[in-house]
Amino acid sequence: MSEKTKGELLKEQLLLDPKHGAEVFSQEKLEKAFAFSEDYKKFLDRSKTEREAVSSAVAMAEEKGYRPFDPKTHYQAGDKVYWNNRGKSLILAVIGSRPLEEGVRIAASHIDSPRLDLKPTPLYEDSQIALLKTHYYGGVRKYQWTALPLALHGVVVKANGEKVTVTIGEDPGDPILYISDLLPHLAKDQAKRTLEDGIRGEEMNLIIGSLPIDDEKVSDKVKLNIMRLLNEKYGIVEQDFWSAELETVPAMKANDVGLDRSMIASYGHDDRVCAYTSLMAELECGTPEVTHVTILADKEEIGSVGNTGLNSSYFNYFILNLAEAMGANGRIVLSNSTCLSADVNAAFDPTFPDVMERRNCTYLNQGVGIMKYTGSRGKGGTSDASAEFMGQVRSMLNNAGVLWQVGELGKVDQGGGGTVAMYIASLNVDVVDIGVPVISMHSPYEVVSKIDVYSAYEAFKAFFEEK
Ligand code: MN
Ligand code: MN
Repeated sequence: MSEKTKGELLKEQLLLDPKHGAEVFSQEKLEKAFAFSEDYKKFLDRSKTEREAVSSAVAMAEEKGYRPFDPKTHYQAGDKVYWNNRGKSLILAVIGSRPLEEGVRIAASHIDSPRLDLKPTPLYEDSQIALLKTHYYGGVRKYQWTALPLALHGVVVKANGEKVTVTIGEDPGDPILYISDLLPHLAKDQAKRTLEDGIRGEEMNLIIGSLPIDDEKVSDKVKLNIMRLLNEKYGIVEQDFWSAELETVPAMKANDVGLDRSMIASYGHDDRVCAYTSLMAELECGTPEVTHVTILADKEEIGSVGNTGLNSSYFNYFILNLAEAMGANGRIVLSNSTCLSADVNAAFDPTFPDVMERRNCTYLNQGVGIMKYTGSRGKGGTSDASAEFMGQVRSMLNNAGVLWQVGELGKVDQGGGGTVAMYIASLNVDVVDIGVPVISMHSPYEVVSKIDVYSAYEAFKAFFEEK
């Protein structure tokens, strides 16, 4: 072996040296990462909506000894609680041995994903086909949702108050729903539309049936037949759509991508990849020194609005209630707390390099990504972590041997995005964005790397366990 030159040594000492996770992970760790991804895929398939993600998480938490949070209880170190906010967002916490007023550690992700919600009065018949009108939710590229197997998930509240859960298109043998697109032969005019306008909101109509009811005396026989079938299966009538939340999501299941099986394609990695990894870290901790809190939030994709989104006071109330029950001052608790705002980032995609600034983006297989700030076009709307907090997070990740990288979303003037970070920061908590790089983010079938998924899990574990 030849000695290293002065330049080589200097380079090692002074310069960044990004590495592929496969070069850094031991064989054992790589196997762990792949095994971890098997469970993650199962979680994805049973948690396609925010409500399903909450149900999955509550079941997992109860198995680990978590109990519903009671603001009147004085909790002890090691106690595990959860607060289910309306079945659509969830807060979990493990009480630490150190005083609450020293602050808590928060991991906050979201469990809603872009999708197509049904309109309030969705069902109609046209030309002897029964269809459902949709209103898309979140940043959807509409043209991506046609000619795909789609499933319907959600709840319907009937006139008597009974709540029915609807799932169509998931079980093997289940029929699926479908949004049509034009054949190329007749798409001359449509092809001239811009990509943004290629499929319009009012063209996203779900085909749900085409057989008429056998009765000459009534009109809209196909619609009536579908309503009859829905009534048989769920006991619902047309007005019940007015008190329902029905979400159209891709019917596809999570799958490995690549002959080396290094990646996973699925609907809703954004942001279940951070939700699942932080949840697993949360559930696996014993009695920590510092109380840690995991938030699975709703409504991030439409601006964290509503009482299940993080712009609501529910997280603030949870901390204030916990503090009160334990004889601590909630404002002091929050002011001393730190948070990893866990949300995905865009991965560099060699097919579309122009939107990225190569020196400052995140790459597949280089680990979990830290974003000092998000926002768009001049940091608009970001909470921008301080150098001091970045320093803390940096040593925490380095000490724990986590594979991590730092990046921005894309080119400065290209666009941008926001996360829940700013809503937590507004409670005087130190916050930084962290997340897994994603290819084709917000599409019906997104891609992440198994190495990055596992690195995210390790990052949350290190954050919760740090002394
Ligand atoms: Mn997200
Ligand atoms: Mn998103």
